[in-house]
Amino acid sequence: MNSEINTAAPESTTAGASTASTLAYLSRVLKTPTIGRVWESLAASARQDGWSHEEYLAAVLQRQVADREASGTRLRIAGAHFPAVKTLEDFNLDHQPSLRRDVLAHLQTMTFIAKAENVILLGPPGVGKTHLGIGLGIAACQAGYPVAFDTATGWAARLTTAHAEGRLEHDLKRLRRYKLLIIDEVGYLPFDADQANLFFQLVAHRYEQGSILITSNMPFGRWGEIFNDDIVAGAMIDRLVHHAEVLALSGDSYRTRSRRELLTTSPEPGEHH
Ligand code: ADP
Ligand code: MG
Repeated sequence: MNSEINTAAPESTTAGASTASTLAYLSRVLKTPTIGRVWESLAASARQDGWSHEEYLAAVLQRQVADREASGTRLRIAGAHFPAVKTLEDFNLDHQPSLRRDVLAHLQTMTFIAKAENVILLGPPGVGKTHLGIGLGIAACQAGYPVAFDTATGWAARLTTAHAEGRLEHDLKRLRRYKLLIIDEVGYLPFDADQANLFFQLVAHRYEQGSILITSNMPFGRWGEIFNDDIVAGAMIDRLVHHAEVLALSGDSYRTRSRRELLTTSPEPGEHH
């Protein structure tokens, strides 16, 4: 009979106070807080359902790993600075028939990131480029890859500051820790020669080293206008598309389409979009 003082659970099979404090200590040292939190209730389940020692150990470790993965994903999503939470699950494929499903399914396997390949999403406003970019970014975070999101204007500003402060090389190297860089909205605002040059350096630096996902409302043929220089634009496109999935999306803007649908399908009273 276990005679240790444990009034809550006096059965002989329950861990005594010293075992409990040992486990608390061990889970702290191992930095496995979930184990410290779940071992006791899982032990109760194990006794009740007759799990083997091995099954109990697996269940405890499983919970720790699941929590660690979930908090890693949370940290990566927070660190990516997405402008909104948009998932691939929320993306309505029926509204975007120009998106090839086999290509999207392939991208979802995330092998493009493992191979440092790029994704280029082209198309007019409202067709879902940013939504898909964020959705793929979140999927990458879930798969364990660090991601960084910004608009083209935002990246240009960062690079300009880094350059002015003499740490461009250093920052470009640091960006390598992000396995996916998302550059949203290339083309809405034109770049001056310095910005174009910095952008080219970013693309050149990541070439075959890390993935870039770019969205643009401009077809490649007009990137010379964005970067004010056909040669720089050409050299950049060349590196970007060498290993890349280029998706040209078409169709009406989802924003105005859903408004039109609401108008034609008599919405609930009081519904506004
Ligand atoms: P773009 O970046 O191409 O201009 P967005 O991705 O910003 O377009 O899409 C505009 C809005 O419409 C966003 O709120 C987005 O979530 C939504 N949207 C666009 N396409 C779809 C879709 N196929 N399914 C669900 N939501 C969509
Ligand atoms: Mg957009």
